Amino acid sequence: MILSLASLSKTFGTTKAVDDVSLTIPEGEFLTIVGPSGSGKSTLVRLLAGLETPSGGDLFLREARITDTPANKRPTAMVFQSLALFDHRSVGQNIEFAMKMKGVPALARRARAMELLQLVRLPAEYYSRSVTQCSGGERQRVALARAFASDPEILFFDEPLSAIDYRLRKTLEVELKELHQRTGRTFVYITHSLEEAMVMSDRIAIMQDGRIIQTGTPAQIYGAPANRFVASFMGEVNILTVENKGDGQAAFVEIGQPIAKPGGAYAMVRPEALAQGAGDISAQLTVTQRLMLGSRTQVHLSSETGAILISEIPGTAPDLLIGSTHSFSFATQDIAWMET
Ligand code: ADP
Ligand code: MG
Repeated sequence: MILSLASLSKTFGTTKAVDDVSLTIPEGEFLTIVGPSGSGKSTLVRLLAGLETPSGGDLFLREARITDTPANKRPTAMVFQSLALFDHRSVGQNIEFAMKMKGVPALARRARAMELLQLVRLPAEYYSRSVTQCSGGERQRVALARAFASDPEILFFDEPLSAIDYRLRKTLEVELKELHQRTGRTFVYITHSLEEAMVMSDRIAIMQDGRIIQTGTPAQIYGAPANRFVASFMGEVNILTVENKGDGQAAFVEIGQPIAKPGGAYAMVRPEALAQGAGDISAQLTVTQRLMLGSRTQVHLSSETGAILISEIPGTAPDLLIGSTHSFSFATQDIAWMET
């Protein structure tokens, strides 16, 4: 374990921004902390980076207690959403800034900056270019190179891609994942996008109201969300309520279909698991909307009780016209059960 959080807390007045968080982070892991705005992600990562002092709990780097160690004495670096680049300086000056502060000689700084440009896949001639002449993606890479300048053991990222448009973000997600693989460093990444977390991470921690409510691999979070909050955070999923009828009998409230002995009060069924035709649990559903998603079609379906379910079907689904009624079903093995 490179980093251990033991009951870490941070209170601002009456707000518990980080509330009793315990977590261990193995060396070389890409861990992403995901949560909605205001859930305490930035405060947590600032505590880890030493930019904020905890109100309670402890932090360990390997075996050493670093709870009170200032940021500049920790072998860590941080990349912010704003990137915080110096706009009036060149790419090289930006990358070399911390080295210069530490008194590293000019030649050694330049050699290191060249290595770092290569690491983040920027051409050597960018060294003397002004950062104002760089595109959004290039600025991102300059910020990464600068973060790597001190050869940190742990890199913290606070939503560095949130302000970037969709296509570039997708490219940079893959680049970050590759950078993680190439360097073997520990990455702790913050985002409000579970989709982004799924693409890059070895492990995901879900944060809600200052607490970590679930940790797991992307597959574990996707397949078995801990509760409705996590499930609904994953985008468009069907969350069905189960009504107990006694004697081991129950029914889905939304579609009236009976089931035997459910594992929880709520069932999540992914749009791709709700398919046309017969299956374990089936219902007659009427198409209320259809949206082309490129390789698949999303249809919104109304049940007899008026509940709306979402299905995603490969191809163009030409028969699923608005207003038409069809038999849809899902398999019991595709249900993820939740108590709350
Ligand atoms: P996130 O990054 O997930 O959006 P933050 O960590 O920024 O969440 O904020 C968590 C909570 O702590 C919010 O309610 C926020 O208003 C509060 N908070 C954060 N920083 C401060 C501060 N410096 N002073 C007072 N309240 C703060
Ligand atoms: Mg934040």
